Order: sequence, then structure tokens, then C-alpha cells
Amino acid sequence: MGEYKICKRCIMDTTSDPNLILDENGVCNYCHDFDAVAKKMEYKKQQGTKYLESVFNKIKEDGKGKEYDCLLGISGGVDSSYLAYLAKQYGLRVLAVHVDAGWNSELAVQNIQSMCSKLGYDLHTVVIDWPTMKELQRAYMFSGMAKVDVPQDHCFVAATNHMIKKFHTKYVLRGDNYATEGILSKAYQYPAGDWINIKGIYKQCGRGKISLKKYPHENFFKRYISIGEWKSVTIVRPLDYIDYSKKMAIETLEREFGWKYYGGKHYESRFTKFFQETYLPQRYGWDKRRDHISSLIVGGEMTREEGLREMATPPSTEQEMEEEKDYVLKKLDITEEEWKKILTLPYKTEKDYPNSENLYQFCRKVKHIFIRDK
Ligand SMILES: [Zn+2]
Repeated sequence: MGEYKICKRCIMDTTSDPNLILDENGVCNYCHDFDAVAKKMEYKKQQGTKYLESVFNKIKEDGKGKEYDCLLGISGGVDSSYLAYLAKQYGLRVLAVHVDAGWNSELAVQNIQSMCSKLGYDLHTVVIDWPTMKELQRAYMFSGMAKVDVPQDHCFVAATNHMIKKFHTKYVLRGDNYATEGILSKAYQYPAGDWINIKGIYKQCGRGKISLKKYPHENFFKRYISIGEWKSVTIVRPLDYIDYSKKMAIETLEREFGWKYYGGKHYESRFTKFFQETYLPQRYGWDKRRDHISSLIVGGEMTREEGLREMATPPSTEQEMEEEKDYVLKKLDITEEEWKKILTLPYKTEKDYPNSENLYQFCRKVKHIFIRDK
């Protein structure tokens, strides 16, 4: 472990990324990356509603004669909920898709249902087979890796992609946005799409009780080689074209839908809450709030002082965290002794298991040659 460093502009530090680079003014590489992209984002915002109107009109035009104009993945979180509201303002006929991997918080379910019924959207919920999900999730917990939330991420994307094909939608609306997610730690990053990796980890760390047949997945070839098919799907990120802020979104949702905030980014999943509040801090000393808060600071939604103050306050009480941990462990059949063992397992990465890293690297190189800058 090197010496502790923290950025003077945002609050990224060496716990959130051990490879953090500070310039001579004490400003980190994430801030510099943010500034570089911010220029592009400013241009998008200038195009703003005019651009959105033209895109949405095109979506409606292409949707004529079809059941839906576009698909929107809805988690019950702030961004996707606000996007559902925005799409209605423009009269889009939305197919709302929710993937239930067994960890939904009650509030998230309420948010999704009340929003969809008030907006008049058809809601399709894909329920992941729980025994399969449980065994895979459990295997990850014993893998010794940081990103134990991959089983959730992978099936969210795969199941949504299945729905795109099923309903022949040509457009997908996505809620990710630069204003509130501009900073994301690059530490421990690995593509959640690597099916070889997921299967390998399951084989080595799982109990082998169940096959992964029922788990929605995508292999490398489906994702990359059949790209011809995917070219016909356009992904639109409308929140980058409006003056978007977390505060504004929450206020609007509460006012219009009686929507309820659940107290943290991605806490719509109880596993993610445990992963971010307990697993990462206890095993890696990494508090993901640092990324989220840094995003809000550089995005101008929060001052650095406010951010530091929020970081100094625990996200939940000790008792709440203990209860949340017990809930997750029980659901995954993990005993208290096993949990203690998990916290002291040798540190591993995705590359310690079978993986498609070489294939990914090759594709990144090819992509870099052909697509310089979008
Ligand atoms: Zn910074």
C-alpha cells in the first residue's frame, strides 16, 4: 500500500483507486477526464430539447405499426424513473422492462409499480430463477474478488437484450448520464459481459448444485460477432441533453408520483446496498459513495465540504447494516463463520479465473483502429 492521497477538487482518494494520479495542483485524473468529456456534454446540452424532440419524433415515426416505440429498463432508481417520466412528456409508447434478480427492495417495487400505472406503461418483469441466481451469487462471494455484483449486472443486460429481440424494438432509452455519474473508479474494473469468466468462477467457487441453464446470459459471440443485428438497435441517453440533477429528479418524482427515495445510489437492490455498504468497505476499505459524491461535486451539485461531511456520516446505522448483512447471508446460505472466512480470503481478480481477456483486448484494439472518437 502506498501513501494516502486525496484529490483537492473532488474527494476521490487512494482507497477508491489505489492508482489515483494527482497533478501538481493536487487535482486527480478523474477530474481531468471529467473536464475533457464535459466539453462534449456542454455541446449536447446546447442542442438540448430541440435535439430530443427530433430524436423522439424519429422514434415515434419508426414505431408506427409496432406495439411499442422503445424499450426502457426500469430499476426503480432515480435515473430510470425520471427517464420514464420524461419519455411520457414526449408521448413515447414505452415498453418498461424490469429485471428481478431476487434483491428488490420493497420501495423499489412500489416505485416501479406506481410509476408504470400512473404513466400507463406496460410493465414486463423478467424474474430470474432464484435457485440459480442464489448459487451463482454465492459462488462469487467465495471467489475472493471485489466485483461480486457481476451476477446481477450480467443478467440485467442479457435479459433486457432478450426483450429487445422479442419485441423487435429499435430503440432503447437509458438513464445513465454524465451529470450524476461522471466519476467512476477504474479500480477492479472488468467487463461484466465475460460469460467464460462467470462460468469459470461458478465452476471453481460454486457448490455445483445447479446448472446455469436458467440464467439469462450472453456469450462473447452473441455480443460482438452478431453485431450486425445490434446495429439496428439505437441507444439513446436523453438525460445528457437536459439540465439534469439528482435533486431536481427526486423532487419531480416525489411530487408527481409519490415516489420514495431509498437513501443511496443503486440501493434499489438490497444486494447492492450490502455490497457497497458492507462488503467493499470491510474487505477493501473502498466506499463507493466516494465516486457518487465526487460526481456530484464536479457536476456542481454539491460542494466539496458538503461531500466530505456526507462521507463522514455512515450511510446507515450499525444496527441497520448488521441486519442488512444478516438478511443477505441468510438468503445466500452463508454462515457467520463463512462470512468471516470470506473477509480474509486471498485477494483475487477476474484474471485468476478462466476468462476472455485476450479476446476483449483484441476487440478493443480493433475498435480503436476503426472508431477513433465518436
Ligand atoms: Zn478529483
